[in-house]
Amino acid sequence: MALSDEQFQKNHQILLARIEKAALSTSRTGKDVTLVAVSKKQPLDALLCAARNGIKTFGENYPEEVPPKRAELRDFAAIQWHMIGHIQSRKANIVAEAIDWVHSIDSLALAMRLNRALQERGRIMPVLLEMNVSSEESKGGWAAWDSTHLESLWTDLDALLSCANLHVRGLMTMPPLFDDPEAVRPYFHRLAALRDALAVKYPAIDWSELSMGTSADFEVAIQEGATMVRIGQALFGPRPPR
Ligand SMILES: *Cc1c(COP(=O)(O)O)cnc(C)c1O
Repeated sequence: MALSDEQFQKNHQILLARIEKAALSTSRTGKDVTLVAVSKKQPLDALLCAARNGIKTFGENYPEEVPPKRAELRDFAAIQWHMIGHIQSRKANIVAEAIDWVHSIDSLALAMRLNRALQERGRIMPVLLEMNVSSEESKGGWAAWDSTHLESLWTDLDALLSCANLHVRGLMTMPPLFDDPEAVRPYFHRLAALRDALAVKYPAIDWSELSMGTSADFEVAIQEGATMVRIGQALFGPRPPR
């Protein structure tokens, strides 16, 4: 069944209230947390419904799916497209053209490819660096679950932070899935601690953004300092099978 405006508004209001409550518990407000509406696998109608009802930020997993969606939603002002899924290096050109923010910079090779593609277009892209804080192999990003990996992270960062067309703004992570959101808290805490360490080591860089938390665990993520939450199912309902 297609998503109705009424159902979307209801989901959206409940979500905003939960975000507000979690933010207040950290002396912030809901305005300090960006809701990224994760639209992967959703039909165009669902995106149009979201845009009609005030969503300004969409999170997408596949670069090639963004240009057509962007075109379809062109009448809505100020919509931003965030890339949250793993990006194959050969798709750096699409990202440089069609994306506004990248959460999922997960290797130096990708950073350099994207930097070059941006340079050619005279664009500067705000980006987050994806960290694997759980050691789960299926998760992307730099190995950052314990201090033994920090030396190689510093080496990559020294090169990455000299990419003039990437504007690093913080970190992102995708922790393992648990039924109990409290079980995820240590991973969010670890990402926030890593960000604090980076802010000391690289004080010239703006490390203010933490992209963490999905439908299953965004309240815990906000309590641990998330500034961006990536939410699909709590907003759109269950993802339709393709
Ligand atoms: C799908 C996805 C989400 C959103 O998950 P939901 O359970 O739909 O909230 C968040 N982040 C990433 C990287 C995703 O791929």
